[in-house]
Amino acid sequence: MQYLPVCLQLRDTPVVLVGGGKVAVRKARLLLRAGASLTVVCPEIDPELEKLLAEHGGTWQQSRYAETDLHGRKLAVAATPDGAVNRRVHDDAVALSLPVNVVDNPALCTVIFPSIIDRDPLLIAVSSSGQSPVLARLLRRKIEALVPAAYGRLARFAGRFRGLVKQRIPDEGARRLFWEHAMEGPVAEQVMAGREDAAETRLRQRLEDTQALHRGEVYLIGAGPGDPDLLTFKAARLLQHADVVLYDRLVSPAVVDMARRDAERIYVGKKRAEHSLPQQEINQLLVDLALQGKHVARLKGGDPFIFGRGGEEIELLARQQIPFQVVPGITAASGAACYAGIPLTHRDCAQSVRFVAGHLRNGRLDHDWEQFRSTTETLVFYMGLLGLPLICEQLQAHGRDPDTPVALVERATSLEQRVLHGSLATIPGIVEREQPRAPTLIIVGDVVRLQEQLSWFGER
Ligand code: SAH
Repeated sequence: MQYLPVCLQLRDTPVVLVGGGKVAVRKARLLLRAGASLTVVCPEIDPELEKLLAEHGGTWQQSRYAETDLHGRKLAVAATPDGAVNRRVHDDAVALSLPVNVVDNPALCTVIFPSIIDRDPLLIAVSSSGQSPVLARLLRRKIEALVPAAYGRLARFAGRFRGLVKQRIPDEGARRLFWEHAMEGPVAEQVMAGREDAAETRLRQRLEDTQALHRGEVYLIGAGPGDPDLLTFKAARLLQHADVVLYDRLVSPAVVDMARRDAERIYVGKKRAEHSLPQQEINQLLVDLALQGKHVARLKGGDPFIFGRGGEEIELLARQQIPFQVVPGITAASGAACYAGIPLTHRDCAQSVRFVAGHLRNGRLDHDWEQFRSTTETLVFYMGLLGLPLICEQLQAHGRDPDTPVALVERATSLEQRVLHGSLATIPGIVEREQPRAPTLIIVGDVVRLQEQLSWFGER
């Protein structure tokens, strides 16, 4: 992180703006909106800027810039077309330990102005750390469209009750949950619909219902195969609710990052043969945390109900009557297939697809291999890297053609995704040579051939 975003209280604070052209007008407008006591230093001034100063009580000091112009100020902004002057403002300000912004010159800034979405008192700032103001503005436009104008009113409403709620719910975590419910539920809806009285009644009622305030909940969330953009909206929303996040190795760090900044993060394993926390302990931990009143997000790679042991984790919750929600995720087979350009079914060559567990138990794979004979069924093996030679051997032994195409997708949907191609006869050797890194997924069937025609649309 190159800059720490902070919000400056500038009301009645002396600020100097060096420069009086069009660029200065933009900065002056912002500074005046924040209530700064603004002095503009320049020999000549743009009429628009002069008018703005007159309207808002700012001062025009008609002179060339001198170091003494910085004295007694809390912030300096340089917006002259003269690079040498801008640099002097920067150097002088730094010598005085004064925060300084030089417009369009990140190298000379100790503070930068982000793009803002102003829903006073709500403020959203978007910054590209000076790298691409245009991108920041584009993003601002998108956010602008997403944030209802009435959010300003909502923020003011919340502000009115902040003290009361703090007094009634001293515990910080419980208080945050209270507000989250209020800001996302009927209270907020009523405020935004202009019915603040009804909203207030409801808010006060909720303050009385202390039991509801202390109820924990578990969200079993499918985190998808890797690319954080494959998370569902619901997953992203619930992640923002959680006080604690439990995740394992399959969950991409970018997804874990989407949790609230102050949420506790607990890593719970698991690598093959290195179970950081045994499954039973994870199950128990979920229960314990929920009983402490926490909102717990359990992130699982892919989909929680596909080879995810999600069922086991909620079994105990159900028995203990702890509220939970299960959020589906994109399973590795979908992610790998789409990103590699291999349709799992296809009218001409595969009418069904089967997800198969490919991990070895005591060096064996106990499947009824006869059921995998069909040439019109795509087989997807999860956890099959170690067992690959055995899988290929067994499929051939049970009637599958040695030339049946096979793709092994390594770290699907991530930027490191790689696809190895072969056939039942050749893929074990290819894998031996290429040494792909886990996680990997194995797709067997004629659909793999379609990749040649379709890879333009998904190969990364
Ligand atoms: N619940 C998960 C699967 C967990 S089992 C899901 O629905 O995807 C773990 C196996 O999933 C791994 O051994 C691997 O075969 C597969 N897998 C998970 N993520 C993967 C990825 N990004 N690329 C390839 N395979 C992946």
